[in-house]
Amino acid sequence: MRSQVLRFKEQEIAAASSARRANRVIVVCATCRLQLCSFEDRIEVKGSHDHTFSNPVGRIFPLRCFSRAAGCQQVGLPTQEFTWFPGCSWTLLHCRGCVSHLGWHYSGPLNFDGLITFRVKDMEVKNV
Ligand SMILES: [Zn+2]
Repeated sequence: MRSQVLRFKEQEIAAASSARRANRVIVVCATCRLQLCSFEDRIEVKGSHDHTFSNPVGRIFPLRCFSRAAGCQQVGLPTQEFTWFPGCSWTLLHCRGCVSHLGWHYSGPLNFDGLITFRVKDMEVKNV
């Protein structure tokens, strides 16, 4: 009986791991669903993937950090004004699909894209 349970568990684990191989997670624009980057592009900046900041007028922005979000385009000239990451300059990031403001590209001592949590979504897709 016990070995049957164990065998069943092993089959479950094997099935779950093959399902993980069959699917992957991408990060998309919440508005137009354009793929921005892959879930594997997540990085930690200053010890965390997720951050929360408020801008000078008190608007709160939860932010997720990615090495690069190729589905975004940088808009404007880099500035350090009110930067949330000391020493880093930022430019706006707009969606290449629908031009929504999705976050900020940071450059300088750190180079990464910060995407606004509620303007992007994780989406599971079949591997091809
Ligand atoms: Zn979009």
